[in-house]
Amino acid sequence: MKRAVVLLSGGLDSTTALFWAREKGYRLEGLSVLYGQRHARELDAARSVAIAAGCSLNEVSLSLPWLAASALVDKKKRLPRLPLGRIGKDGIPSTYVPGRNTIFLALAASLADAVGAEAIVIGANALDYSGYPDCRPEFLEAFEETARQGTKRGVEGAPLKILAPLLRMTKRRIVELGLRLGAPLERTWSCYKGGRVPCGCCDSCKLRAKGFSEAGVADPALAAA
Ligand SMILES: [Zn+2]
Repeated sequence: MKRAVVLLSGGLDSTTALFWAREKGYRLEGLSVLYGQRHARELDAARSVAIAAGCSLNEVSLSLPWLAASALVDKKKRLPRLPLGRIGKDGIPSTYVPGRNTIFLALAASLADAVGAEAIVIGANALDYSGYPDCRPEFLEAFEETARQGTKRGVEGAPLKILAPLLRMTKRRIVELGLRLGAPLERTWSCYKGGRVPCGCCDSCKLRAKGFSEAGVADPALAAA
């Protein structure tokens, strides 16, 4: 059976990507990373989603104090509050976590090479997104080449594929795909803040709300909160 490592943050995009990979027939190997983010709420969501998908979840906890350069890690930094139309168009925001997807993909490539997975699935999106450089197609293509050169699989002629099925989708299409796949969107957490209910004000909440609104459905996570 073909096997894939899926980076799972517990948000809307990675959960939809996980269920996309499941539908494609991959045996799933989830990977979640704690890197000092403001809250552990999303890891709880990732665990809950992994249970719903019936997949194992590898949890990695990193201690990288310099990531406090990001407002997603350092609670003293203010989260940006841009109008929806400016999100992703105002330069790289303070919520950018330095090298996050480079770190995540390196961990995923290591896990994939260890367990014999042929693909890494990542829910990166370069359309309705915050403008992070490590979500762009150029970066993912370059990392695929890095993995080809730097893994056992790669030099043995079966290079890892980096699959980013949501890369060019709008949030509306992501919501519609997640619903069609039966992904447990009610279990997902996208808000940059912790707490019991999403704040509704951060970039991530706004992009998510846009997706559900344009798809014409209520966000089941809000009903479940
Ligand atoms: Zn929020």
